[in-house]
Amino acid sequence: MLNTGADNYYFDAEAECMPRGQLLQLQLQRLKTRLQHAYDNVPHYREVFDTQGVRPQDLESLDDLAKFPFTVKNDLRDAYPFNMFAVPREQISRLHASSGTTGKPTVVGYTDGDINNWADLMARSISCAGARPGDIVHNAYGYGLFTGGLGAHYGAERLKCTVTPMSGGNTEKQIAVMSDFGSHVLLSTPSYALNIAEVARSEGVDLAAGPLRVGIFGAEPWSDEIRGELERQLGVKAMDIYGLSEIMGPGVACECTEQNGLHGWEDHFLFEVVDPETLQPLPYGEVGELVITTLTKEALPIIRYRTHDITRLSDEPCGCGRSHVRILRVTGRNDDMMIIRGVNVYPSQIESVLVSVAGVAPHYQLVIQREGIMDTLTVDIEPESDFAGDRKALGAEVKHHIKSLIGVTCTVNVLDSGAVPRSQGKAIRVRDLRKK
Ligand SMILES: [Zn+2]
Repeated sequence: MLNTGADNYYFDAEAECMPRGQLLQLQLQRLKTRLQHAYDNVPHYREVFDTQGVRPQDLESLDDLAKFPFTVKNDLRDAYPFNMFAVPREQISRLHASSGTTGKPTVVGYTDGDINNWADLMARSISCAGARPGDIVHNAYGYGLFTGGLGAHYGAERLKCTVTPMSGGNTEKQIAVMSDFGSHVLLSTPSYALNIAEVARSEGVDLAAGPLRVGIFGAEPWSDEIRGELERQLGVKAMDIYGLSEIMGPGVACECTEQNGLHGWEDHFLFEVVDPETLQPLPYGEVGELVITTLTKEALPIIRYRTHDITRLSDEPCGCGRSHVRILRVTGRNDDMMIIRGVNVYPSQIESVLVSVAGVAPHYQLVIQREGIMDTLTVDIEPESDFAGDRKALGAEVKHHIKSLIGVTCTVNVLDSGAVPRSQGKAIRVRDLRKK
């Protein structure tokens, strides 16, 4: 069933298995074109390149990209709604937007050509993850301004799958449709997939016994422990997909069945990892912040976008035969990092602890408060629905593990089953109630 070895399937074998030397040559050629396109058509890029004293023609090798300025989310916010577009508005055939937690949303635009490339890259991604032409694809990513729903939809159609456009929410109906239609592939956020699994179990529906075999989960960081839960509860191979609306949407990178990193599609994007402090590029293998440059986007070329995702890159050959760089699974973002009484804590670290303690369900919420001058961390958890032990002891065990493994003292509340809010899309894992 897995696409390893002889029955390996590539949506675009020529592109996916291109020898690395040829791939880097293609990147250089496309990067030169894209820098010139951005400089000529986007006032923001002309201004920041001029300020930094660099011109598109200063790029002679891929290493020269380090001379060019970064793009940050605020640049896109400041350009609200259309001022970063490099083509006349009439040539934009689609708009999406990401909802910011603060301030204005970030608006992104696509030409017909961009939409076409996106569908190709998404088809490439989901087939890399194990979907095949003819599969029934249940798409529970939200449709609308969020890029997830339509991005996945067009990609699955491009792969010649049968697509069920469910969007998020209405979990009982999702489960009925999945079992009645016999879906092979589920696309959703990992937290919503856990919700689906839990509701299915409570209804006595065993999705793992059906034809479902691949889960493609993204749009939020998730741990290997959650991967294990999803694989067990849904009977799928749980695959990680990566993307962000500023760069394109889902399909920037995706895991192959080797599950040892996500292939970043280097014929369309250039990936760098930089030191988050000095912002200097780091060699492959070193951990830092992922920075992405688009190489083919017409409507919204993005040069050196700081993703705030912490990861490392590998160009070691992959068993699947694809030559594209692997982005090690992103399990934290440096703006997700919480500082609790001087200790740096990522929600993903706490998640790893919770999932490793027997009897704890994979649903949690972290609440940070300030009492006087002290920050306090409260971890709301739930026992597994069949947990018959002592809840107080369970809470004490979790507290002990968090202290010994992460170094932070917290309060653990063991709530009733179902009391932690369930994800309908993107999970809210952290509620920071400190005054900013
Ligand atoms: Zn691979």
